[in-house]
Amino acid sequence: MKKIPMLINGEWVHASMEALLDVMNPSTGEVIAQITNASKTHVDKAVRAARVAFESEEWRKIKAYERGQLLVEFAHYIRKHAEEWSLLECRDVGKPLTQARADIEAAARYFEFLWGAADKVMGDTIPIEDGILNAVVLEPVGITVHIVPWNYPIQITARSVAAAIATGNAVIVKSAEDTPLTTHAITEWFAGKLPRGIFQHITGLGREVGPYLTSHPDINHITFTGSVPTGIAVMKSAAENVVPVTLELGGKSPNIVFADANMEQALDGVVRAIIQNAGQTCSAGARLLIEESVKETFIAQLVQKFQALKVGPGEADVDMGPLLNERQYTKISTLLQKAKEDGYVVTGGETLTIEGYEKGYYVEPTILAGVEANDALAQEEIFGPVLTVLTFTTVEEAIALANSTDYGLVAGVWSKDIDTAHYVASRVQAGQVFINNYGAAGGIQMPFGGYKKSGIGREKGFVALRNYTQMKNIAIRYAPPNQI
Ligand code: NAD
Repeated sequence: MKKIPMLINGEWVHASMEALLDVMNPSTGEVIAQITNASKTHVDKAVRAARVAFESEEWRKIKAYERGQLLVEFAHYIRKHAEEWSLLECRDVGKPLTQARADIEAAARYFEFLWGAADKVMGDTIPIEDGILNAVVLEPVGITVHIVPWNYPIQITARSVAAAIATGNAVIVKSAEDTPLTTHAITEWFAGKLPRGIFQHITGLGREVGPYLTSHPDINHITFTGSVPTGIAVMKSAAENVVPVTLELGGKSPNIVFADANMEQALDGVVRAIIQNAGQTCSAGARLLIEESVKETFIAQLVQKFQALKVGPGEADVDMGPLLNERQYTKISTLLQKAKEDGYVVTGGETLTIEGYEKGYYVEPTILAGVEANDALAQEEIFGPVLTVLTFTTVEEAIALANSTDYGLVAGVWSKDIDTAHYVASRVQAGQVFINNYGAAGGIQMPFGGYKKSGIGREKGFVALRNYTQMKNIAIRYAPPNQI
């Protein structure tokens, strides 16, 4: 059995037998690796090493453009190993191979996108008065902690690590206990390229190891992606030490389809937005808001598309893979059972047994209709392939429904009417709005984050660099030589 070590202070650290945790392949239910459940001592050691490394002359002397070159070198390395890493991600998360390949490509693109930015994190000068040069400089924050969830391990590691290394920080990544494999692959590369302590990888149970990290008094920034309750816990813990956080906490994102939309485009967009990664996506289009006049035809065609979807193991590369683990499977199948009893299921609603993969966590892609807008099924993040349909008759009603949850991550608007589309985009409370598409181009360059309980701050794009820098104002008085 492959045992995945942690990287602490430049050394590979293995657990004692009793601190090992199993990592499963969700497609087969088989154990594929084991990780260490880190102790508080491991975390303390990593933070100490990060502090020493961050303040070392060795790290300070590496020029900004050299950090950039390292990022692009890594992007090339990722591409060279793309197929091998796609298989790792596919086995670890259960996602279809094509989706895993897209994740690996996106990871390469995060490093590529920021490589040229590393030496362009520029400050400013402010005119004050004659005899004072006032400079604003952007410095790295110091030790950045990256708590990565299990749904997009390599992408979510890449998007924040690229920005943190570009700006000169010491990075500690805590991978999700279920999905450490690609983060380990990243760690193997950085271990040979960066001074010891600049890149470290901690593994273990989030609810145990997470708080050791988030409450540590010597860290300087936390980026967390996951659920709202855990995000709140992370924020409370960080508040004790006045440590800033960037939180990305999921959503209940609407696809708003107007009667004048290009229906074929909208249908494909709505399907893709909910079945990608079996609906275990923070930006999943989990609600369909459909204009009443086209409801029947749209749903009928949607049902056909859902019923044509193939569900199977990630490596078979069909349309949809399994759920992540038994916990997700129990949560979703219980919810589907109840939805069936309540008469909401239009199609799907069942668990699936795939021949040869009987221990995998498969469920049918499901459409629910007839649900009240304030029902939990229309309000709470399900994190499975479950689409909840609501209807509207006016533009204002569509906007009110779109904004009727605690979340505000993403929204899709489908209409050929430029006025309607722009007006709705301007009124929807969401960090990203897509008009006549959903998730354009993977979004590497676009600021990503939420309104309301979907989070705080933005990852991706150039704006992510701000998370990992702090501003210092330096005022310099000068005078003619004879007046000194
Ligand atoms: P979670 O928010 O509890 O955990 C997310 C990750 O954070 C885990 O992989 C874990 O390693 C770590 N973690 C857990 N507790 C922590 C703590 N106290 N301090 C620091 N880190 C901690 O989510 P989950 O239990 O993995 O999944 C439950 C639900 O959360 C899902 O069904 C879904 O609704 C939501 N979720 C959302 C996202 C997203 O992309 N926004 C990702 C994962 C889960």
